Amino acid sequence: MDDFTFDTDIAAKAAEKGLCDHCLGRLFGKSGKGMTNDARGRIIRDSLALGAPEGCSLCDDVFDLLDRFAESVAESVNSVESDNFLVGCRVDPAITEAEKALWKELGIEGESIKTELNREIGKIALPMINRPVEFKNPQVVACIDTRFADVELDMAPLFIYGRYNKLSREIPQTIWPCRACKGKGCARCNETGKMYQTSVQEIIGDIALRMADGKEHFFHGMGREDIDASCWGTGGPSSLRSASRRKGT
Ligand SMILES: [Zn+2]
Ligand SMILES: [Zn+2]
Repeated sequence: MDDFTFDTDIAAKAAEKGLCDHCLGRLFGKSGKGMTNDARGRIIRDSLALGAPEGCSLCDDVFDLLDRFAESVAESVNSVESDNFLVGCRVDPAITEAEKALWKELGIEGESIKTELNREIGKIALPMINRPVEFKNPQVVACIDTRFADVELDMAPLFIYGRYNKLSREIPQTIWPCRACKGKGCARCNETGKMYQTSVQEIIGDIALRMADGKEHFFHGMGREDIDASCWGTGGPSSLRSASRRKGT
């Protein structure tokens, strides 16, 4: 805590703008470890013998709503299954622009309001979610729009590995769009948009989609992908390749 330092002149100029403790402290957020921005702000205000303003001229007192944001995030993340999560946020562009203008005016670069919001919302949400925060490859990102407290979930794709036997030579591996209409639907394809009624991708993928409540599926075959290849034996990727047979062989 005692390694927190700030330029008194710049701090006094900033405080004149009528900033809340969070926004004042965040301007010097790169100094001092293990402390929150509002704690930095209070230290600055105390040392300048200044009181807190009525409302914050920069953030519109968005930090008063941290608990509500965290509850919305927790509710959304808890509605899906994942091993981890991360909080992101969308802030009124007028606020982020005003913040950049303030940095420019004061000749400093503080921590961004987004970074502080993400961290503070995440801290409150964490015990309600009971899953670890993952910064690098999160399975779910809960992005909260701080103007409306709406949460949008960005889900990482679910990978399913499996083996299958294909005993029919009339079913392709993947969806095969109609050559004539390119999938739009025409007389030639009976308005299905497809060359074949179904595929291994659809037979397996449609079930997986229902189970995962997903939007679309992709299929990566690991052997020959021709329609006339049938897969026998264990269906494993290596045996799939060697067991695939061409018609007439
Ligand atoms: Zn503020
Ligand atoms: Zn067609």
